Formats: sequence, C-alpha cells, structure tokens
Amino acid sequence: MSDNPTRVDGARVLADLNALRAIGAYKTGVHKPSFSEPHRRSLEWLAARLPDAGLSAEIDGIGNVLGTSAKPGPKLLAGSHLESQNYAGWLDGPLGVVYALEAARVINPDTNLDGAVELAAWCDEEGHFGQFLGSRSYVGAVTEAEIDAARDRTSGKAMRDALRDVGLAGRARRTAERGRHIGYLEAHIEQGETLESGGLKIGVVTSIVGIWQYRISFEGEQNHAGTTRMAVRRDAGLALARFCVEIDDRFPATAGPRTVWTTGRITLDPGAPSIIPGRAEMLFQIRDDDARVIERLEDLLRTMAAEVNAKGKCSVAVERIRTGAPALMEASFQHAIEAASSALAGGKSQRMPSGAGHDAQILATIMPAGMLFVPSIGGISHHWTENTADDDIVTGAEVFVDACRRLLKG
Ligand SMILES: [Zn+2]
Repeated sequence: MSDNPTRVDGARVLADLNALRAIGAYKTGVHKPSFSEPHRRSLEWLAARLPDAGLSAEIDGIGNVLGTSAKPGPKLLAGSHLESQNYAGWLDGPLGVVYALEAARVINPDTNLDGAVELAAWCDEEGHFGQFLGSRSYVGAVTEAEIDAARDRTSGKAMRDALRDVGLAGRARRTAERGRHIGYLEAHIEQGETLESGGLKIGVVTSIVGIWQYRISFEGEQNHAGTTRMAVRRDAGLALARFCVEIDDRFPATAGPRTVWTTGRITLDPGAPSIIPGRAEMLFQIRDDDARVIERLEDLLRTMAAEVNAKGKCSVAVERIRTGAPALMEASFQHAIEAASSALAGGKSQRMPSGAGHDAQILATIMPAGMLFVPSIGGISHHWTENTADDDIVTGAEVFVDACRRLLKG
C-alpha cells in the first residue's frame, strides 16, 4: 500500500462547504434551523450530488438524506448533519457531511478497493424539535407519537406541519439494515480549543459524554418582603443559591478529571422584588464519559438534598429528567484515524473524549462507531464566527478519507 493513497480534492471540499454556507447565510455563518427553507434547500443540494459519488439518494420521511451504494463489498456509513443552531456557524455539521461525500467520491469509483462509503445527513442533530431525531429514527428509536408531539423550540411549530411544509409528509422513514455496515464514521469540528492550543490537527474521539439533567425544586414560604423578619423567613430562592454554591464546593472530591456540571436556568416563583420566593427551581446538568462517575455525583446530589430537608427550613426535591449513556468509540476506528493521521497529518493527533453530543453516539448503539475532530479557531462554536483554517479543513478531509479506506480494507 502506498503511503499517500488519497486523491482528495481539497478545493472541491472547500467549494462544497462554501456552497452550503451560501444557503441560509448569516454574516460569516448560517441560520439554518431544521425544516427551514435553507435547510430544505441544503438537503436537496446534497441529494443532487450523491449520484456523482456512486450513490443513489433518498430524503426520507424525517428528513434524513441517505446515499446508498450498489458496489459489492463492505459498506462504511459516514456523515453528520446539515441544519444549524440559530444564527450559528457554517461548519458544525456540514464539515462531516462534505467529508463523507468526498470519501464516497474518492473511494466508490475505485475498482481496486472492495467496498463503498455510504452517506447519511441526519436531521435535527441540533435539537430544534427533539433529541437526535434523525439518527434515532434510523436506529428505530423514534415513535410516530414522538413526532406527533414534537414542536420547534423557537417557534412552537408542530413537527408534522414542518414536515408537510417541506414536502416530506407521508414519506417512509428509513431504518438501518442490520449487518449492512461495518460501522459509522463521523467528522466534526472540535468546538473546543484542545487541538488548537496543542498545535494539533486531528482529534481521535475515544468516547462521547453522557448527559444527565435534573430539575431541582425548592419549596419555602411565599411572604411579604417588607414585613417578614429575617429570622422567620423560609426563602426558597436563598436555599437554591446556597445549594448551587454547595455543589461547587462538594462535587470536585467525587468528580472525574473531565466531569463538568452546569446550572443552566434558575426560576424564582413568583419572581417579584417585593415577595419572598416560595418556590425556586434550577435545571442542572452533569456530563461525563463514565456513567459510574455520574451515578456517584447523583448520589451526592441526593445526599445534599436530604441534608437540606433534615434542617427543615425549606424542602428540596431532585428529579432526574434526562439520562444519556456515554458512548465508547470503537478501538479499531480510533486506530484507523490515528494511522491515517500519522500518514497524512504528521501524526499531530490526540485521543480525546467529546464533551458535546453527536449522532455517532446514537449510531454506536447499533454498530461500531468512530469520530474525528478538526481544530476550531479559538474553540468557538454555536456562534456565527465559528471557523477552521482552510488548510486544517483539507488535512482533515485527507485523514478522514484515508481512515475510511483503512476501515474498508479491514
Ligand atoms: Zn454538530
């Protein structure tokens, strides 16, 4: 095998990414929420390009774009997503889709290589209507009732209406043909600054964090802010604030080296300057790639709540509202990315967990999966200034395509 087996066309990769950026452009980024007009045009743009890569294209009933190959031999599934967060960046999603397209264009016509790259652009990874709806639909984890109930978190529009408006109502949803693929490979921008600050080109993802989310509710006594003496108050807002500080004091001793936790929203009820809050609520999230660490932290959270309840001034209830198992990336996929990086990126790679969720964690529930990161300038993402140097985009494409080749060769 030659040391430089790729025929990646870097200019073509950059031109495709810029073509997608022009659809729904916002400043230097894009505004492309799921099932918006620019999102629909992006899906059609991609579907129109798949035949050039030896793939037959289908946009299914949930808005996944799927490219299927008739070439004999092993099949590797590759992709990412095309919609964006609101007023966000141009590479979050499209980078992985265009890399997959390039891999299919390079590998599928190659008669010396047995097997093919098939493509998927998963709908709504960014969660406008739900959680990973497109990839979860593909693995058979989305019911019709879930789609019936789903609404756009910004506009409130029903998902059924959105599907009808983009012409997808009544179309069948495609699910994975078990055993068809040797696995799933996804490329993505890092969305952090580990690679940039280390002078590295490629992140080899070892795992994708699990996200556990909690609603923590405090109950005190609503009363007059002027006439109620401090000593007799049962201020639910104050109890919440104390609890937040205590989490930060006590979590580090139990957390893992990369555990992160965030209080993302605090609500005081009734939330008026002259009324002592009788109720308070916080939405709290923990992320780690080791479920046992999160379980220990949840135990601690419940212990702390029991201590507050024992004091008796305000009561607190901890309710878990979301669980997401961490996903381990397949060892052979990590090895293939590393080998490709040694050949084409001077070995400037590092193994790292992903602190953000990705479709690969959903695919990992039914097939081996791997992920590759490229550097994000300044670590910025989910913002229109999100960017990656053109050279890094091209290097990433070369490594990605070579990793696909190595995986297909087994
Ligand atoms: Zn993304």
